[in-house]
Amino acid sequence: MSEDMNALLLTEYMRLELTEMPEPLPGPDDVLVKVRACGICGSDVHGFDGSTGRRIPPLVMGHEAAGEVVQIGSAVADLRVGERVTFDSTISCGRCFFCAAGEVNLCDDRQVMGVSPGSYRRHGAFAELVAVPRRIVYRLPEAIGFEQAALIEAVSVAVHAVGLIPVRLGETAVVVGSGMIGLLAVQAARLAGCARVVAVDIDEGRLELARQLGATDVLNPRAVEPADAVRELTGGRGAGAVLECLGAAATVRTAIACARKGGTVALVGNLAPAVELPLQDVVTRQIRLQGSCASSGEYPAVIDLLSRGAIRVDPLISAVAPLAEGPAWFERLYRREPGLMKVILRP
Ligand SMILES: [Zn+2]
Ligand SMILES: [Zn+2]
Repeated sequence: MSEDMNALLLTEYMRLELTEMPEPLPGPDDVLVKVRACGICGSDVHGFDGSTGRRIPPLVMGHEAAGEVVQIGSAVADLRVGERVTFDSTISCGRCFFCAAGEVNLCDDRQVMGVSPGSYRRHGAFAELVAVPRRIVYRLPEAIGFEQAALIEAVSVAVHAVGLIPVRLGETAVVVGSGMIGLLAVQAARLAGCARVVAVDIDEGRLELARQLGATDVLNPRAVEPADAVRELTGGRGAGAVLECLGAAATVRTAIACARKGGTVALVGNLAPAVELPLQDVVTRQIRLQGSCASSGEYPAVIDLLSRGAIRVDPLISAVAPLAEGPAWFERLYRREPGLMKVILRP
């Protein structure tokens, strides 16, 4: 018989309730994880207000989590109860063409934890317990705390995006948008060999954080035209690597304008479903536009990077709070309270 657990349920748009729900039952290939930390993602906040249409209530959100294994399915042989783990936000099928090629982020039957776009409903980790397939679970070393581990998913997104760009040692990178993913992309670009990393944002506090985390230059579009400033920094050429981490018409335009001829613009942000493309500029300057979705296989490398301090996430954690305070924190994030980056809930 299954028992009840606490969960933070989106009962309708703009309404989260701490409630009792049946504990999930792990299937043969699953492990049951006691959630110790789960980050609130920007996409959860956009799901909360219904703007993305990908969090249709009723739903338990939460896809940036870490915890302890409390039960293993009958077919799981290589994990034990008590082990500290994190897991991918993407639940890949493990069988399709893309999964076979290792591109699990492109899986034909891809589901995302804590998401319900209409075609499926997959309850997430703003709950005491969550059941996940063993194949998406990764062990955590002692050096990584649960709260830090809750950021592994976001770090993987940034590392994946940088990995899709052909970076030459000494390259200049521009990161448009200094939110969570942007600030992680700044660090990943430095690690990838970019000697100069330029962060662009309209928020001075975020630019200061970008500088602390390794940006060599910061640009505020309210004060300077980013493309002009980037050209000035690069002998008139522009940047070989640009990461667009916001996904709005103006920021995509800025990202393309910052790229040098033959440069690559990785499109990571996707707030707007469609934006206007400066087609002739992209074609005649032979800009490569590279979409980047989630991550595929970066978790082990990211766990290693975090455990060695090569990527820092602590400065990005604004608050750690009990699950019961989740509704209040969602409100504060929804109201765009200044200075808030990652808020982590502890069930
Ligand atoms: Zn997320
Ligand atoms: Zn698949």
